[in-house]
Amino acid sequence: VKGLRKVYRLGSEKVVALDRIDLEIEKGEVCCILGTSGSGKSTLLNMMAGLEKPTKGTIDIEGHRISAMNEAELARFRQKNVGFVFQSYNLIAALNALENVMMPLMFRRVPKGDREEMAMDILTKVGLEKYIAHKPNQMSGGQQQRVGIARAFVGSPDIIFADEPTGNLDTKTSESVMEIMLGMARQNEQTLVIVTHDPEVAAFADKVVHIRDGNVESIEIMRGEVKEYVHA
Ligand code: ATP
Ligand code: MG
Repeated sequence: VKGLRKVYRLGSEKVVALDRIDLEIEKGEVCCILGTSGSGKSTLLNMMAGLEKPTKGTIDIEGHRISAMNEAELARFRQKNVGFVFQSYNLIAALNALENVMMPLMFRRVPKGDREEMAMDILTKVGLEKYIAHKPNQMSGGQQQRVGIARAFVGSPDIIFADEPTGNLDTKTSESVMEIMLGMARQNEQTLVIVTHDPEVAAFADKVVHIRDGNVESIEIMRGEVKEYVHA
């Protein structure tokens, strides 16, 4: 991320959500973005995931300049390389857990016969093998978020972005959800970028980026620390 700036326009008003952001995230790294409400964390994450366009500056992912892509190119890039976990799960209400997790594979043109097995495999990893036929409104928040995680990780995208994935969950459920995400990312050497308020999550990151008023305030690099996420 280089010289990133994002300005929102509300009528005649200008909101500078981010300015002069420079940031590098290594392949396979777990990176946490921390900052107070309104500091620009979601804006930054959405732009890195190709969900929003920067006003100025560039974003490169493994040599692809995503900030210069058009909508169709971005959609293709996201489908192939990126998973996203939302704070409010964003599951499709009419589909059950298995069908929700199979969705990204359909966009990625994985053969129909393979989709179900891949989705089953990942739902088993997140401990939901007994809930595959449940629709979102038939599951708890923690279960829905585990479906959200399964959907983000299915097909092993290179990068997973997560915006406050535990924001709506109690402490114990947050721990288990975070443990599952960190475990899978570490095991598959996937890059994981998490917006969070949870200092415990930050403690297991390789890099913590502190955002304040639309700027990078500081970057902590914690290499060589214990990398397993173990809870008491
Ligand atoms: P939170 O922790 O509450 O989720 P955040 O750090 O994710 O906050 P952002 O959502 O990135 O903050 O917002 C950064 C700034 O940009 C805020 O001042 C917000 O009001 C503004 N903003 C965000 N989206 C828009 C939009 N679509 N139009 C106008 N202003 C926006
Ligand atoms: Mg936010």
